[in-house]
Amino acid sequence: MDYSVIYKAQNSFEANFIKGLLKEYSINCKLLGESLSIGIGELPVDVMQVEVLVENKDLKKSNKIMQDYKNNLTNINQNERNCPKCHQSIPTTFKSCWNCNQ
Ligand SMILES: [Zn+2]
Repeated sequence: MDYSVIYKAQNSFEANFIKGLLKEYSINCKLLGESLSIGIGELPVDVMQVEVLVENKDLKKSNKIMQDYKNNLTNINQNERNCPKCHQSIPTTFKSCWNCNQ
């Protein structure tokens, strides 16, 4: 079967998150590069890019999911964070949560 790269994750944590995300849509993916981080204890895992590959038949659907994922990621990173206590979205310009004051 033919596979295509749909996303380059920054680390294996993100790659596995995407794997789980795709699985929710019944899409199986392969992670490429992740195995490099196993057994090389001294190398920081987070500097290793992991490529996420899906079967070509799932490519269109996956690209749509990844587009949404990237949009969310951009929004969260640039404008908001989640309060650890009440899970309210807070603009990053606020130091404490305006909802529960934590
Ligand atoms: Zn809060």
